[in-house]
Amino acid sequence: MANSFISKLPQVKTTIFTTMSQLAAQHQAINLSQGFPDYDCDPELVSLVNRYMQQGHNQYAPMPGVMTLRERISEKIQQQHQAYYHPESEITITAGGTQALFTAMAAVIKPNDEVIIFEPAYDSYAPTIKLFGGIVKAFQLSPPDFKIDWTMVKKLFSPHTRMIIINSPNNPTGAILTEEDIRELIAMTRNTDILILSDEVYEHLIYDGRQHLSMARYPELRERSFITASFGKLFHTTGWKTGYVLAPKALTTEFRKVHQFLVFSVNTPVQYALADYMRNTSRYHELIAFFQHKRDYFAGLLTNTRFKLLKSYGSYFQLVTYKGISTESEIEFARRLTIEHGVAAIPVSAFYAKETNHQLLRFCFAKKQETLENAVKKLEKI
Ligand code: PMP
Ligand code: GLN
Repeated sequence: MANSFISKLPQVKTTIFTTMSQLAAQHQAINLSQGFPDYDCDPELVSLVNRYMQQGHNQYAPMPGVMTLRERISEKIQQQHQAYYHPESEITITAGGTQALFTAMAAVIKPNDEVIIFEPAYDSYAPTIKLFGGIVKAFQLSPPDFKIDWTMVKKLFSPHTRMIIINSPNNPTGAILTEEDIRELIAMTRNTDILILSDEVYEHLIYDGRQHLSMARYPELRERSFITASFGKLFHTTGWKTGYVLAPKALTTEFRKVHQFLVFSVNTPVQYALADYMRNTSRYHELIAFFQHKRDYFAGLLTNTRFKLLKSYGSYFQLVTYKGISTESEIEFARRLTIEHGVAAIPVSAFYAKETNHQLLRFCFAKKQETLENAVKKLEKI
């Protein structure tokens, strides 16, 4: 049996986020690797969850999600992007962004469908495509700006192209889509049945007055897009694993056919609490200033080190290069940084399928001021 068993994902190992967080814990290193805050969420949100639990909202939520939460999300999108998503038929609450991404891919990818992704790419995309028999067409972007050359991307298109996955603001690069990218995307998908999976979990983490260009804003893109979002990023609650997907009715119908058998529905009291909490829209508008301050504070501290910073326009990640410090591979350097210097980071090579060494590391700055200070004190010694 053991010999005849064939893995569906032979190349896949435990994720780099788990690996680096474990290594950090093992060596008591400051963990700037896996992306999650080390400070707590708003206690009011915790009280709301408690209240809904005590009021007896402890059984299954409706399959697509609690209606009041879907209504709040619809209002949010309307206000933010002047686009209407019907709470009944176009919004589904999921167990986080990861489940939303997985379910969207499961719902539409058939064997031999080609899916274009941009590397560095979030680690769940390629394995999920492959699980459903899809073929990954990866387009590699390069530092320092990770700009998309659409003329080259076009060469990846074929009659079998089923989907394009985009992620803006981007993990790990901090790059964002521009109006020019949007124009190219519209032109390239016009008169095709190509779908877009737009991973917008960092939608509110965008800096220096720039605007998040959601697929929701552009009718020609909206009609072919699944847009995924995460309350983990929105309200500093990554452990609650709650998110949602926006998609036009026909796509939502297909999405829910899978969703109902994958999770059926997600955490009831959390959904009620989020719906209440979202009534105050400043809650998510405050995020920009909050994280921009952290980005700038961390960048300021890092000027005292030999690491050089790349520009972070969005997300809660900062890329740095260690050129001039070491010629090691990113994974070797990241491991040594954790074990010998007590600071954990993510090697950017983990976001590429092919071996790369751009000598880049990703730090997460969603951390308390003192955590960032203590980490940089250690980095200064290198
Ligand atoms: N997409 C990207 C780009 C992410 O960085 C993350 C998580 N950090 C997710 C999706 C998944 O979000 P969630 O934790 O809600 O599953
Ligand atoms: N998305 C988070 C990151 O990039 C981690 C999520 C996870 O561990 N799966 O660090």
